[in-house]
Amino acid sequence: DNLISQIAAGEVVERPSAVVKEVLENALDAGASNVVIRLEEGGVKRIAITDNGRGIPPDQLTLAVARHATSKIASLDELEHVATLGFRGEALASIASVSLLTLTTRTADAPHAWQIENGKVSPASGAQGTTVDVQDLYYNTPARRKFLKSEQTEFGHCAEIVRRIALARPDVSFSLSHNGKAVDHWNVSAIDKRSAQILGEAFSNARLSLDESAGPLRIHGFVGLPTASKARADAQFFYVNGRFVRDKLLTHAVRAAYQDVLHGDRYPSYVLGLDLDPALVDVNVHPSKIEVRFRDSRSVHQFVFHAVSRALAQTSA
Ligand code: ADP
Ligand code: MG
Repeated sequence: DNLISQIAAGEVVERPSAVVKEVLENALDAGASNVVIRLEEGGVKRIAITDNGRGIPPDQLTLAVARHATSKIASLDELEHVATLGFRGEALASIASVSLLTLTTRTADAPHAWQIENGKVSPASGAQGTTVDVQDLYYNTPARRKFLKSEQTEFGHCAEIVRRIALARPDVSFSLSHNGKAVDHWNVSAIDKRSAQILGEAFSNARLSLDESAGPLRIHGFVGLPTASKARADAQFFYVNGRFVRDKLLTHAVRAAYQDVLHGDRYPSYVLGLDLDPALVDVNVHPSKIEVRFRDSRSVHQFVFHAVSRALAQTSA
């Protein structure tokens, strides 16, 4: 039973950045407007994330870290099947099975906070919101720990997750520290300011904005001109219904537009959001994957290609 849960955890919690992603998504789901992320030793030693969201009522604390679907996983075969479909409601439980997890939380109407550690719920102190404190990741699964890269590399992956989420949510303030040193801090702002902070001045000085709709599709955001791309080679941020994705079809559509209008740009930089009816897209088929499947991929490709082309054509005309 324990082994199964650790294997299942491996699917959700591939590396420290996967913990950061799941815990940040929970914070935003809880309506937080301020999130503080403190990492130690690339996240392996510690990932402590504090939000000011609605908190968890004490009677739901045990359930929050329980494995909802464990009884359904009878064999490794089934486990794989479940994993490819993407199991939800498993993140905290998975994290708890491969780390020392402490959750401290307080709802608006509670007289004080509550804490759960090792399955035990006890009174605690703390403001409204939740702190998820993950220590000694993979302490009980040394094989998985061996797959981790250097502290700096793991931290880099974590920081990239924070940037992706912060770009999608300029209405939330974030701060990130590593080994006690402040790394990033973004106040609540508008998307143009947030993207300038995250992608750099070069991007904000040479970008074009777009916002187009056609039928059920809307695309909005910024595309950088070639001079802007020199800022970063990894400045491609695409969101589908607010979720970061790295998708071949979308990447291709954007590249094709750069090719067509500007006759190429090896590393176009952009921050683009595509919004559409959730019924027309299947996002996040696996917890650790960021792919999407569109019902009508041809029309999505055309829409993105034409919208980006028109935006880029504003200057080359
Ligand atoms: P899921 O997010 O898919 O429901 P998780 O394992 O990530 O599953 O979280 C389990 C539950 O714990 C959530 O449904 C939510 O009720 C609660 N929870 C987790 N993190 C927070 C948080 N930061 N603030 C409020 N509630 C939370
Ligand atoms: Mg979750």
